[in-house]
Order: sequence, then structure tokens, then C-alpha cells
Amino acid sequence: MQSFDVVVVGAGPAGGHCARKLAQKGYRVLLMERYKDFDTNSFSSSGTPNETLTRYELPESIVGSFWNQIDIVTSNQTGSWRSSTIQGSVLDFAKLRSFLAQETQFHQGEVWLNCLYVSHEVLENQRLRVQVRREKQDVTIETKLLIDATGPNRSVMYANLKEQPEMISGTGVEFLIQVDEAAYDRSAKALTFFLGYKWMPKGYSWIFPMSDRQLKVGAGIVNLEHEYVKEMKPLKHYIQLIIDEHIKPEQYEIVERHGGTVRYSLGLKDKYVEGNTLAIGDAVSTINFLGGEGIRHAMQSAEIAVSYIDRYLQGKTQTFDGYQDEMHRVFLKDWTISEKLGLKKYLADSDRLVDRVVNYLRPLKLEDVVDILFYYKFEKASKGLGSYIWRKFKSFWAKVFSKV
Ligand SMILES: Cc1cc2nc3c(=O)[nH]c(=O)nc-3n(C[C@H](O)[C@H](O)[C@H](O)COP(=O)(O)OP(=O)(O)OC[C@H]3O[C@@H](n4cnc5c(N)ncnc54)[C@H](O)[C@@H]3O)c2cc1C
Repeated sequence: MQSFDVVVVGAGPAGGHCARKLAQKGYRVLLMERYKDFDTNSFSSSGTPNETLTRYELPESIVGSFWNQIDIVTSNQTGSWRSSTIQGSVLDFAKLRSFLAQETQFHQGEVWLNCLYVSHEVLENQRLRVQVRREKQDVTIETKLLIDATGPNRSVMYANLKEQPEMISGTGVEFLIQVDEAAYDRSAKALTFFLGYKWMPKGYSWIFPMSDRQLKVGAGIVNLEHEYVKEMKPLKHYIQLIIDEHIKPEQYEIVERHGGTVRYSLGLKDKYVEGNTLAIGDAVSTINFLGGEGIRHAMQSAEIAVSYIDRYLQGKTQTFDGYQDEMHRVFLKDWTISEKLGLKKYLADSDRLVDRVVNYLRPLKLEDVVDILFYYKFEKASKGLGSYIWRKFKSFWAKVFSKV
């Protein structure tokens, strides 16, 4: 029977980065993934700020495009913020995960694709016996530590779905389309977000550019009731609307359709540790509820976990006390505010209020908008709100004086 120091289940950004880091440290690591390759399940739009490439040492070869502009389109408003410098990238999600798996192998770790985690039991010596189904064969392995990086499934931490805390789910569908050059050039350097009842009443839609005249066009909803909008069309309706009314290509071809569902625990009530099993990434709700950005945070959670795993394997500690507290220190405050704003924006705001967001943000620089959307510095929005109120005030008095 094969034996490992650490078995990581799920080769998403969290699992791949965790396995890569542990293999770099010389541990015997197995990274397993239920799909047979990374192209099969390339569900993520993968828009991200500059930090992701630099902090996690990712190569430019996994980048689809770089962006220096954000556009926000609502039912009746459009805002555009541009910078002279690159602010982030849109990654090729398949290439990102493939790179992390290759790095794991480069450092002598093992990667098993087409391998489904089935169950595990704790042995008397605290080691874990893990049952997997590898290329349709039942296989048993042993490990000192087991990592749940199965994202929304949380398959390792919870044998039974009913044991999981209450979750809110969100569903996203995305078309990868190839368009004519002129249409591509209009969206080539921008992340474009669509909000409001016209474009996506219970969430938001987007255009993220890739290379080779390709654009990712997607729509995502929160799967809960909206206070005012009672009827929704299928997600593909909103994607088609963007293609027809915003991109307006002379010609286009759908290269691929993909999508996914995320499951998020309000208040971060997931199980982080059980004996010698730890959970990372979306398995502990590291995706941000407001923006839906999850790759960078999944990788950050992997790094936090690796520091505890490393100390355990060096014999410096017998437990993982402190891991959950550290994760909450890093995420809980910003995530709680993001939940409140997200629930309000996606499920309770009137269309007029959504329009106003663009007006509040209009006077800000792109760097400020990035700080709000990606770094949760919501106080910067009040800078825009103050300026909005001042502009309204001035125009009101200008009108009054013009009548006198
Ligand atoms: C439509 C959509 C668009 C998104 N866009 C963005 C974006 O633009 N930017 C961004 O930063 N984030 C985005 N996200 C979120 C981001 O993709 C996730 O937060 C991130 O992928 C989470 O990483 P993870 O490794 O924790 O989980 P995942 O990426 O979900 O990886 C979990 C892996 O575990 C595998 N697995 C599950 N069960 C088993 C099992 N029993 N055995 C073996 N393997 C198993 C799965 O196949 C999967 O590969 C998007 C998400 C969706 C759904």
C-alpha cells in the first residue's frame, strides 16, 4: 500500500498550491483530482489583480490577458475607469491548475488525475487510511494528513451533506466566444461588469478578455429570492443579451460553454480541522460573497494551512490549534461586511439604487475602484459618495439660482 505524508484531495487553486508548497519542502505528497484533465472542468472566469501572479509566483504563460480598465454597466448607467498601468490579469484556469500540478510533480510529489476520493478512516496510530477510485479501480492508501480541497463539495470533511452548516449557493454560466477583431478590441483591456435588473437581477454578469480574440462572457446568480424581481430568465438569456446589445460582434463563434456552483457558509461556519484532516479554499468558504473572487483567497488559505502542516510534520506540534482562528483573523471581518453588502445589492436593491453605484464611483481613480472591489476597502466608496452628494448639491443650487 502506498503511503504519504500528506494527501490533498482536489486539484483546484487551493489544493494545487498546497501540494506544490509541501512538495517544495520535501514532503511525500499526493495530489488527487476526480477529473481526467484540467480542460474538462475549466469553470472559473479567473479575473484577478496583479498580486496573484507576484505573491504566488505564477508565470505569465498561464495568463489569458492583462487588464488596465474596469467598466461597470447598469440598466441606465455606464462607468469606465482606466489606468496607464496593468492592474491585473485574466488567467487560463486550466493552465493555472495544470501548472500547480506540474510544479508538485517537479518537486517529486505525485499527481493522480481521474481519481475520486471515496472515504477515510482513522487508524489507531492516528494515521489515515483513504479509499479512492482511481481510473475505475478501488485503491487504498495511507497518509499522516488529509487535506479537503474539494471546494463546494467539502467531500472529506463531511461524509454526509446533511452534516454541513447552512449554505448559500451561487451558480455561474460562462461562454467562451471568439469574435471579430473590432469587437475584441473594444473589450480587450477591460474587466466589464453588468449589474441591475436588465443585465442580471440577482447577481452580475461579465466580459473578461482572453487572448486570440476570445472573450469570456458569463452570468452568475445567488440562488435565493429577490425582494422585488420575482421572475428570472435562464442564465444563457443574460449572456446572449450582452453579446447582442453590448459586444455587438459582426460575427462570433461559441468555443466552449462551462459553469459551476459555489456554496458559501454565511459567518464562515465550516469545519476547518478534524483530527488530522484540514480544509482549505472554498471548502471553508474563502470565496468572497460580494465579488465572487476566490482563486487568490483559496491560494492564501493553502499557504496558511501549509505553515501549520509543516510544523506538525516537523514534530513541533501535535495539533492544528490556531488554524481556524488565523483563518478567521484573515477573512472573517471583510467577509462579514461583504456578505451584508452582497445580500443587499443582489437581492434587495432597487434598480435605481444599482444605477447610483456607478455615479458614486465615477470620480474615483481605477486604483481606488480596485481597492474597493478586490481589497474590500469599502471606506473608499464613501469618498465617491461624498463627491456625488456635493455634485448633486451644487447642481440643485445652480438650478435654484438660475430661476431667480
Ligand atoms: C462561474 C465562476 C466564475 C468564477 N470567476 C472567478 C474569477 O473571475 N476570479 C476568481 O478569483 N474566482 C472566480 N471564481 C471562484 C474561484 O474559481 C473559486 O473560488 C476557486 O476555484 C476555489 O478554489 P478551490 O481550490 O478551493 O476549489 P475548486 O476550484 O472548486 O477545486 C476543487 C477541486 O476538487 C475536485 N474534487 C471535488 N470532489 C472531489 C472528490 N471527491 N475527489 C477528487 N476530487 C474532487 C474538483 O473536481 C475540483 O477540481 C469563479 C467561480 C465560478 C463558479
